[in-house]
Amino acid sequence: MIDQPWTDRSLNSVWHPCTQMKAHEESPLVAIKNGRGVFLYDYEGKSYLDAISSWWTNLFGHSNPYINQAIINQLSEIEHVMLAGMTHRPVVELSERLSALTSHHLGRAFYGSDGASAVEIALKMSFHYWRNLGFTSKSKFVCLQNSYHGETLGALGVTDIPLFSDTYSPLIQQAILCKSPVPLNNSVSLEEASQLAIEDLKATFEAHHQQIACFILEPMIQCAAGIQIYSASYLKAARALCTEYEVLMIADEIAVGFGRTGKFFACEHAGIWPDLMTLSKGLTGGYLPLSVVLSAEKIYQAFYHDDIRLGFLHSHSYTGNPLACTAALATLDLFESTNALALVNDLASELLTAFAWVKADSRLTNFRQLGSILAFDVANNYLPLHFSKIFASIAKDHGLLIRPIGNTVYVMPPYIISKTEIEFLSQTIKDCLNKLLEEIS
Ligand SMILES: *Cc1c(COP(=O)(O)O)cnc(C)c1O
Repeated sequence: MIDQPWTDRSLNSVWHPCTQMKAHEESPLVAIKNGRGVFLYDYEGKSYLDAISSWWTNLFGHSNPYINQAIINQLSEIEHVMLAGMTHRPVVELSERLSALTSHHLGRAFYGSDGASAVEIALKMSFHYWRNLGFTSKSKFVCLQNSYHGETLGALGVTDIPLFSDTYSPLIQQAILCKSPVPLNNSVSLEEASQLAIEDLKATFEAHHQQIACFILEPMIQCAAGIQIYSASYLKAARALCTEYEVLMIADEIAVGFGRTGKFFACEHAGIWPDLMTLSKGLTGGYLPLSVVLSAEKIYQAFYHDDIRLGFLHSHSYTGNPLACTAALATLDLFESTNALALVNDLASELLTAFAWVKADSRLTNFRQLGSILAFDVANNYLPLHFSKIFASIAKDHGLLIRPIGNTVYVMPPYIISKTEIEFLSQTIKDCLNKLLEEIS
């Protein structure tokens, strides 16, 4: 047994996420031994450029010396202590710095472990907020078509991706769906789609606001739906409608926060602040599971009371883990010391230059880009069966970790990717597409 490779032992013991395990009868797993910068290495020493930042989490590279050292230092202080009745330096400093990053609009930090747990917290909080104020009928949630907010039962209720939620529909309390501001096709402009979606949101609020606790959305990009970018004008108008109709606004910045879109928070493209904001993924630079819900003071105050039941009694065992908070603090240090927002904006223009060939390729459509994220689609008439699976597999052979979503090929690399690495990324994608699309036709 012990002589078997890690991949075989994994298939015998690990149930992998987001995977039909039987598919591994054909497509092999990759066992990663170590990583450095944008590269991952398997046990044979073969390298893989991590083009998607290991599920959108990594910002400053794998095995980053600065974050490594910060965690090592923290290990000799305290690895974990419960956060009820106790506190510690890393969680206090992190909360203060996150508050400052929102210009203190969202000054109360409640921690979870994964993105989905932050979404659960924000949804429960918004319902409980209205209840504490005496509005017991405000128990419904509103989300957008094609939204993605995670895989737990509550989060699936505000997620509109049938592949993930349909099976569980009898268990799910489905939110009210509003029109997405993403244009359905090329004949509609971003602004037209934004306007139509605003009208739909307004009509929904007009009819149901007395039952609606909150509206949750992914600011600027619906990532899991296939990197669908929409106009900041929608965010701005949605903020105004939420205020007008007394609906809490939850901005789910789990994927787009921490500079991904070129601003620290994607909401800043519209110059707005939500009432609640969820963060995870990039929060620890891709190191450790940690999520947080940042809340406005008015929400915190609605729970502050002599009656214990008016308090927010939610908890997770590892809430505010000191090692995870330390990774987050080191990530924020790197943000400042490397001037990361400028890095992302340089990266944005380098990506545009390196991928200019996409626009000239008639088999590829819907070229789009915001900050460190770039995507395009393979046109339907060129699309082979099982495109995303086959493309990911060919790319793996060429030393690239990438996972298309349906017919959408996208890159979301760590911010520290070099110009040479971007060129390798672009050229490899081009070679793989040529190989795959020519084989088919
Ligand atoms: C990934 C993601 C989540 C879920 O986070 P997990 O850590 O995977 O639970 C929620 N919302 C958005 C927008 C995401 O991209």
